[in-house]
Amino acid sequence: MTGRGTGRTSPPLSRPAPALRSSSVGDKLLLRPGEVAPRAVPTMTAEPSAQAPVETRLRDLRATTSPVEFVARVVACERREVTRRSDGSRRPVLSGLLSDGTATVRFTWWDPPREEIEKGTVLRVVGAEVREYRGRPEVTFSWKTRLGLASPAELPRLDTEEIPFRTIEDLRPSEEGFRLEVRVVRVGAKTVTVGTERRVVYEGLLADRTGAIALSAWSDFGLKVGEAVRIAGGYVRAFRGRPQLVLDERSSVVRIEGGDLPDPAQLLAAPPRSIAEVEDEGGGEAVAVEGLVVGLLPPSGIVFRCPTCHRSVRSGICRVHGQVEGQPDLRARLVLDDGTGALTVNTNRAETEQLWGVTLEEAQARLRSQPDPSLIEEQMLEALLGRRLRVRGVGTHDDFGVTLTPESIDRVDIDLDAAAEELSARLGERR
Ligand SMILES: [Zn+2]
Repeated sequence: MTGRGTGRTSPPLSRPAPALRSSSVGDKLLLRPGEVAPRAVPTMTAEPSAQAPVETRLRDLRATTSPVEFVARVVACERREVTRRSDGSRRPVLSGLLSDGTATVRFTWWDPPREEIEKGTVLRVVGAEVREYRGRPEVTFSWKTRLGLASPAELPRLDTEEIPFRTIEDLRPSEEGFRLEVRVVRVGAKTVTVGTERRVVYEGLLADRTGAIALSAWSDFGLKVGEAVRIAGGYVRAFRGRPQLVLDERSSVVRIEGGDLPDPAQLLAAPPRSIAEVEDEGGGEAVAVEGLVVGLLPPSGIVFRCPTCHRSVRSGICRVHGQVEGQPDLRARLVLDDGTGALTVNTNRAETEQLWGVTLEEAQARLRSQPDPSLIEEQMLEALLGRRLRVRGVGTHDDFGVTLTPESIDRVDIDLDAAAEELSARLGERR
């Protein structure tokens, strides 16, 4: 590649990245694969003795005064403008997160190209500045930085042997660069729409001795329930308030013996725990509790759903799809109390019909003869109040506490008099 005479004595870069300086006025900054923007040759860098940038992995980034080079993917970005204090003019800045599979770092890009930088774009960055903020490295792209498009194949090759092992219990959102040894507890394929594209995502549950984590895999690793696997190249994101392990085409999955990993049947059949404990942990992927139904939360009973997105429809309006013909559905939001605490159990139509013993059609017939939905809810509560249930499922956490999406609900037969006494005591406590 010619035109690399920057005054540095550096060897040529291994790859002719389309060189895009971030900020030079007049430069054509089109971030399209293969396109090379005319690059002004800087007369001199601010540091005459600037060393050759050394390609590094984000995990090894340290605050330094010498420019670094790396290849990373934009995983999040946001464009805004800041006001210069000196003259009040506005200066565009793009900031977000970059990841190369070994770590995720924040970036700040002053005077970015006008074109949209999309999430997923892989960039080769030469001459970025690295600073430390609260003990974590951050990179800044300035006029000295050259940026070009790169292909995902240029991302650092992960030598899985050198990635540290972690356990599920100490994984945190936005973490990556770890290996896990887990048992596949559940897995299933689901088709989703991403933008305009239909894609298959494999969702499930993985477990080790320390806990369980939800899985979302964008590649088919042929996972089967019960097998033990060693996973590398995944990352953790927060999904509905719970950590989720995301795998993509760069992740690797290897079958292992896994003798010391829990048995899925055992994990899913674990004895119920106290609701207080489940609340303390903010829910969980394989929660089992047992308690009495002490109430129903709205909306319970007959609800109307958007035919497209299944959100509940209010006065014929879906908040995404506008005016729609709502389709009737039956649901219940049960408050389950075990004496240590209470949580909400959301039951779908089949579960509600089973528990209540009334079908959606029957409930609709009742509604026609007594057109007051609150009566339906009252009748449902009457039938369910004081029922002892053992519920297993996924527990998520928000400001209102833990909500359980059941995988199984079992009615526990009990001494009715004792239950009535227990219930009145519970209800008394809750007043
Ligand atoms: Zn809708």
